[in-house]
Amino acid sequence: STSPAALAAATDTHCPYCSLQCGMRLSPGADKAGADTVLEVLERPDFPVNRGALCGKGRTAPALLARGARLTGPLLRDRPGAPLRSASWPEALDRVAAGLARTRAEHGADAVGVFGGGGLTNEKAYLLGKFARVVLGTANIDYNGRFCMSSAAAAHRRAFGLDRGLPFPLADIPHTGCLILVGGNPAETMPPAVRYFRELRENGGRLIVVDPRRTRTAELADLHLQPRPGGDLALALGLLHLVIADGLVDRGFIDRRTTGFEAARESAMAHWPDRVERITGVPAHQLRAAARMFGGAASGMVLTARGPEQQSKGTDTVGAWINLCLATGNAGRRYAGYGCLTGQGNGQGGREHGQKADQLPGYRSIEDPAARRHVAAVWGVDPESIPGPGRSAYELLDGLGRPGGVRALLLAGSNPAVSAPNAGHVTERLRALDLLVVADLVLSETARLADVVLPVTQWAEEDGTTTNLEGRVILRRRALDPPEGVRSELWLLRELAARLGVPQGFPTDAEQAFAELGRASAGGDADYAGISYQRIAAEDGVFWPCPAPDHPGTPRLFLDRFATPDGRARFADVTHRPAAEEPDQAYPLYLTTGRVLAQYQSGAQTRRVAELNQAAPGPFVELHPRLAERLGVADGEPVAVTSRRGRAVAPARITDAIRPDTVFMPFHWAGAGRANSLTNPALDPVSRMPEFKLCAVRVERAHLE
Ligand code: SF4
Repeated sequence: STSPAALAAATDTHCPYCSLQCGMRLSPGADKAGADTVLEVLERPDFPVNRGALCGKGRTAPALLARGARLTGPLLRDRPGAPLRSASWPEALDRVAAGLARTRAEHGADAVGVFGGGGLTNEKAYLLGKFARVVLGTANIDYNGRFCMSSAAAAHRRAFGLDRGLPFPLADIPHTGCLILVGGNPAETMPPAVRYFRELRENGGRLIVVDPRRTRTAELADLHLQPRPGGDLALALGLLHLVIADGLVDRGFIDRRTTGFEAARESAMAHWPDRVERITGVPAHQLRAAARMFGGAASGMVLTARGPEQQSKGTDTVGAWINLCLATGNAGRRYAGYGCLTGQGNGQGGREHGQKADQLPGYRSIEDPAARRHVAAVWGVDPESIPGPGRSAYELLDGLGRPGGVRALLLAGSNPAVSAPNAGHVTERLRALDLLVVADLVLSETARLADVVLPVTQWAEEDGTTTNLEGRVILRRRALDPPEGVRSELWLLRELAARLGVPQGFPTDAEQAFAELGRASAGGDADYAGISYQRIAAEDGVFWPCPAPDHPGTPRLFLDRFATPDGRARFADVTHRPAAEEPDQAYPLYLTTGRVLAQYQSGAQTRRVAELNQAAPGPFVELHPRLAERLGVADGEPVAVTSRRGRAVAPARITDAIRPDTVFMPFHWAGAGRANSLTNPALDPVSRMPEFKLCAVRVERAHLE
């Protein structure tokens, strides 16, 4: 069990959940009501990101450490259809190693796959990527961050030559003149960040929120634009049209620091306000007001989140918003620019260290010969032995158990049976595997399908770094001993590597793994070479790139030049196009999905915390009163939502905060109310992001199932 004896004193660390990575202090607490949770969360006002503030998820996080909430020993299924039973670590690891080796021998290395997570520490993400490439020799490794911010990452890289979620600290937000927040709801997803938006308004700055729902965040705004789902690309083009027409562009900046404006201008000029109103449903007068507010401000920022990003045109949509920043001179200077609010705890670091199908540590392209040589030298292998790019997350899941697809999968820190698009289909594919191995803290819906379940340590039980949404590398500290039967992923990767014939190269000490990660990242985009555990602790985190121990780190990127070969930012040549699936007669409404305040992602963790469950006990379908009347549905009555892929049933929540042509479901739950039974896996051609954020549905009265 968790052991109070292991707690010498209070430990400064960080929340296990979202990308804000709030600082907190863990202190030995009373053993409440017989539970073996022995930590109390205290505020840590000195940590600059959240300055002490925490949301309910962070405050209740120690409940995750309690024995009843989590796995405490390996589980194993003797044959398909048999129940999971307890197993010893050697038995479980032998079974995994034998299964992986057999699949590789019979079907080739690419028939073995790895699926990681954006909640894993940097050290785990790094060693998982190394394990896939060096031990398994497979190209097929990807992670659930592909479902999170990959479109923003692709657009960021295309425009600026480098992707870091926020190229400036959150503390810059209150100093900008006008901020447009597109498809994000931090008031529910990361409440301590809302302070920055409030301070912006107190300083006289303006806040514009773009969202099909009038969310708690939208209620804070000077102006709320409420487009149809999928309308964000046209909206950005319409705003660019107006700032050009009104003479609000920064010609000097465009000439000095960018390329490609002419094509972007031409496209924008074809999106005149009336046309944009028809496409998006946003009245032209609101569009004009927004253009004046943003274009007329002395400085401006645009932040995107999952709304514009989780679309089959997500990269182009983000590109259109970046165009607006570039045309108005709002990039590459203080208090201005484009940024993405990442979602998962290590959404930023998780994508930098090699668990992405197309990248190597240091955020390098896996196809770049120099990058391959550098990383191969750190790993002590032949560059030729490193596989090329593999399948993206949904393509990997969709191919499970099929000819030419992955047949044995090692999955860590992810719950795709709830969180993947078209989740019913993905669940079938997971069942079709010859071998499914899941490393997790809890018996998630995906772990229930596994042949072997490996229980792993978590935030307060181990040291490890994450990188928050600002690019600030922070350190989570071990505050207590893990339960007896639980092991770190670092340990189990070493054990598996040794069983598969690679006895060296997999440190179990997180600090040692971090030092190797630093060497592997040296010279890459996300250069961690100058960052150490000591520095992080002493400096409240260090911003990458930080190439040397005496380098101060880089809180603000692009001030002198952008990271493109010619140092100039690139406008994207983009135009409006419909979503992969628009409403029609059979499926006449839009569905959009998102999160609620008291739950997190697939809910695998937060659904096990009593206080959070009380606050948000289950799924619901938000619909407009006019739609409810047409359907004859009263508040709280069950409704069935059906798409071309599946059906979900949940109580109606009637609110005029949503458009009458759109319904909303949160995606934290499994079972009959699983929102991702409905969502569309149509992929963005550049980022391979599925179109989670909208699909066509029909809604009817129903009985709760
Ligand atoms: Fe944790 Fe995010 Fe809440 Fe902060 S905002 S306490 S990091 S869940």
